[in-house]
Amino acid sequence: MSVFVSGSTGFIAQHIVNQLLQLDYKVIASVRTQAKADEMTHNFNNPNLTMVVTGDMSQLDAFDPAFKKYGSEIKYVIHAASPVVFDTTDVVKDTLIPAVNGTKGILESIKKYAPQNVERIVQTSSVSSLTTDPETRDPSITANEDSWNSYTWETAQASPADAYNGSKKFAEKYLWDFLEENKDVVKMKATTILPVFVFGPQMFDSSVKPKLNVSVEVINSIIHTPPNGKVRDLAAKFIHVEDVAKAHILAMQRDDLIGQRLILSEGNYNTQDILNYLNNDFPVLKGKIPAADTTALAEGRPSKDLTYDNSKSRALLGFKFKSLKEAVDDTAAQILKHEGRI
Ligand code: NDP
Repeated sequence: MSVFVSGSTGFIAQHIVNQLLQLDYKVIASVRTQAKADEMTHNFNNPNLTMVVTGDMSQLDAFDPAFKKYGSEIKYVIHAASPVVFDTTDVVKDTLIPAVNGTKGILESIKKYAPQNVERIVQTSSVSSLTTDPETRDPSITANEDSWNSYTWETAQASPADAYNGSKKFAEKYLWDFLEENKDVVKMKATTILPVFVFGPQMFDSSVKPKLNVSVEVINSIIHTPPNGKVRDLAAKFIHVEDVAKAHILAMQRDDLIGQRLILSEGNYNTQDILNYLNNDFPVLKGKIPAADTTALAEGRPSKDLTYDNSKSRALLGFKFKSLKEAVDDTAAQILKHEGRI
C-alpha cells in the first residue's frame, strides 16, 4: 500500500518523501508539472517513488485522475500542498482559492475513488490557523491546540499575511467538517500538523537558490547581510524541518494521534540569536555579517510575540525536537557549502 503526498516539490514535503522512502514506504507524489516530476525522479532516484502530475489545485478536479488511477493502492494521504505566497496583489486567486480548493478537491477525489482504501489523512496546517496575523505580535496572547483565528473570507483579504492565516484556517476547518459530514461514506481519519517557522536544509543541495522558501529565507538573508547592514528585527518560533517530516509520518502511523491538531514549536528565536550562531559556528562569516551580541541572550529579552502552549502536542508526539543551534547550523552549512565558502 502507498502513501500519497501532495505538493511534493515543497521544502517540507521533500523531507516527508525522503523519510517515507527511508522507511520503505511506496510513495505516490504529486507535482504541478512534468518538468518538476522529472526533477524529483532524478533527485530521489528510488524505484518506490511514483510521480504524478496534478496541475494547479485551484481546479477542484485536479486530483481526480491521480486517485482514479492509484486510489485502490493508497492507504495514507499527506496533503502538504498549499500556497505560501506573500508577494501577491490578488490574495483570493493566489492564496485563498488554491488553499481551500486543494483541500476540497483532494477530499472529494478520495470520496469518489478511494473511500474505503484511504485510512488516514494528515494535512499540513500551520500555527497561522490559530490566531490572526496581528495577534502573533501580541505577547499577552497564548494560543494552544484548541485555538482558531477569527478571519472570515472577507477579513482575510486585507493583506497577504492575513490571507495566509485565513487560508490555513479555512482549509483545516474544511477537513474536520468534511470528515464529520462524511463519516459514514469515507473510512479515513485525520490529524493536522501545525508548524511554526520551519528551518533546516533543503532536501537536495541543488535546490539551494539565491532566494529560498519563505521560512528558510529568514536565515539565508542574514547570511547575505553585510557587516554594517541591518537584519530584519524578527522574534518568532522555530522548528527543524526533519522534525516536521517525522511528525507527519508518526501522525499517519499512530492511532493515538487520530483527531489531534499537533503544534510543532521548539521555542523562541530572534534574529540576533541567528546572528550569534552564524558568527560563532562559521568562522568564514566573521566580519562578513553583522556581529554577534551574546549580551542579548534570548532568555533575557522581553517577549515581542505571542506564546504557543504546545505541551499537549509535545507529550503526544513524545520525541525531542532539534535545537535552534542545529536548525541554524544545518541551514547555513548547506548554503555556505553550495556557495563554495566552506
Ligand atoms: P513550499 O512553498 O516550499 O511548498 C508548497 C508546495 O505547495 C509546493 O509543492 C507547491 O508546488 C505546492 N502548491 C502551492 N500552490 C499550489 C497550487 N495552486 N496547486 C498545486 N500545488 C501548489 O512551502 P513549504 O514546504 O514551506 O510549505 C508546505 C506546507 O507547510 C504548506 O501547507 C504551508 O502552509 C505549511 N507550513 C509551512 C511553514 C514554513 O515555515 N515553511 C510553517 C507552517 C506551515 P510548486 O513547487 O509547484 O510551487
